[in-house]
Amino acid sequence: MKIKPFKNEKLTDYSKKANLVKQKQALDKVRKNLGETYEIVIGGKKIKTVNKIHSYNPSNKEEIVASFYKGTAAQVDIAVETANKKFNEWKNVSPALRANYLFKAANIARRRKFEINAWMIFEAGKNFAEADADTAEAIDFLDFYGREMLRYSQEQPITPVLGEKNELVYIPLGVGVVIPPWNFPFAILVGMSSAAIVSGNTVVLKPSSDTPMMGRLFLEIMQEAGLPDGVLNFLPGSGAEVGDKLVSHPKVRFISFTGSMEVGIHINELAAKVQPGQIWLKRVIAEMGGKDSIIVDKETNIADAAKGVAASAFGFQGQKCSACSRAIVDQYVYKDFLRKLKMEVDKLKVGPAEKNYPIGPVINLNAEKNVLHYINVGRKEGNLLAGGYKVGRNGYYIAPAIITDVKPAARISQEEIFGPVLAVIKSRNFDESIKIANNTKFGLTGSVYTTNKKKLEKAKKELFVGNLYFNRKCTGAMVGGHPFGGFNMSGTDSKAGGRDYLLLFMQGKLISEKNIE
Ligand code: NAD
Repeated sequence: MKIKPFKNEKLTDYSKKANLVKQKQALDKVRKNLGETYEIVIGGKKIKTVNKIHSYNPSNKEEIVASFYKGTAAQVDIAVETANKKFNEWKNVSPALRANYLFKAANIARRRKFEINAWMIFEAGKNFAEADADTAEAIDFLDFYGREMLRYSQEQPITPVLGEKNELVYIPLGVGVVIPPWNFPFAILVGMSSAAIVSGNTVVLKPSSDTPMMGRLFLEIMQEAGLPDGVLNFLPGSGAEVGDKLVSHPKVRFISFTGSMEVGIHINELAAKVQPGQIWLKRVIAEMGGKDSIIVDKETNIADAAKGVAASAFGFQGQKCSACSRAIVDQYVYKDFLRKLKMEVDKLKVGPAEKNYPIGPVINLNAEKNVLHYINVGRKEGNLLAGGYKVGRNGYYIAPAIITDVKPAARISQEEIFGPVLAVIKSRNFDESIKIANNTKFGLTGSVYTTNKKKLEKAKKELFVGNLYFNRKCTGAMVGGHPFGGFNMSGTDSKAGGRDYLLLFMQGKLISEKNIE
């Protein structure tokens, strides 16, 4: 079968009334199914346990979106054993057939797009466009990694050696544990899981306890695509109980994690310990936090820069690892920039995700407390120019906060807050802006607004981030076009959505045959 070249999934245009209507109808339909309980699924078998995890609607905090039987240490053993047994079959399924499951799943997700968006709007508090972009990215990952597997299954280039027939093949690793975050609850979960699966591994997926329904939807989609039971095992549970046990299991070959720096470090340490009976060093793919900067130079269109900073800082309430949490602004344009930024942010109304407000809630009570705590810290470290207060009572709403005159070493300039809080830092010149931008332990995304080509060249060489953008926002990486991943404490630079990614889930085997007459 001829496979068309990869193309990014089109985003839904919600300025068209028909699309808005479809999204609202999907919300109405999904609303009727809120509050149901779902089982753990291991090897296709549904399992009930004593306790449950509930996911709540952050726009309406009493409303249960879905309940899940909570996995315990006992199910960890069953899940890993099941995945391990299945691996012996799945690794021998041809790459073309494995890729085909992903292509089928992409088509199913495309068909169910408005429904997937609706679940995400309820469970994660994304507005329509943010949810739609998340689902589109998941579809892209399926389509992209399917094609990537086909590429890796072809003959690999190696230097000919006289008298020998040599071949390099990529084979899977084994059982992988996939631990995604809640903030791209579908895209990242689907990307990490599908990459592992298409490479020939079997997976135990532990979804985030804030957004388990998105994992459940992925399972349903893969089942509908005909994926054999046991290749993808679904095990909701607490990070501390199920997560630790999974990560330290001797039969687990690799861990694919995306989340906070603290949990990433913990997983890396735990996975490094060789357990009794373990015959490999575990591979850890860990994509972690960010403290991302946008540099606003004096030689730029300030109105454009203000728009870019506002979109990067406050899209999905600043809950993106790529979000701009520091604007580093040249002193000559500082005042003008603040005025224009405030105008942009004043337009951002706060309200329920289902009503499609530009700014929705933060994910849960802990996040709300944490963000409000940092806003208090920020009041002492700078001047609150806008927002920073709680809005309404039903959900975890916080008006987007801009804190100005922040010193580069201040806490709100150094620590990841992961919410709608922007620190604005005044700099003397472009060189100082670069120094400030490089002064954190993270290195995920960054952007520079300037029309000066020499400054862009300098930024190319000196800014130490995995994803560097010029004259545009620092969020919204596209699969294929912007392979994504960061340096230092932002992670292992896996470059998700890029051509190196699948290699993280495979190992190379060289086969050399001497020619005999
Ligand atoms: P988190 O670290 O709290 O949780 C991530 C996942 O780890 C969840 O599924 C959680 O249940 C699980 N977990 C928690 N403790 C565990 C343990 N002891 N063992 C195993 N698993 C455990 O992060 P979060 O709040 O879900 O996500 C937000 C964070 O993710 C932010 O720091 C953000 O910057 C980061 N993030 C990074 C990227 C990237 O590509 N670099 C992308 C998205 C999010």
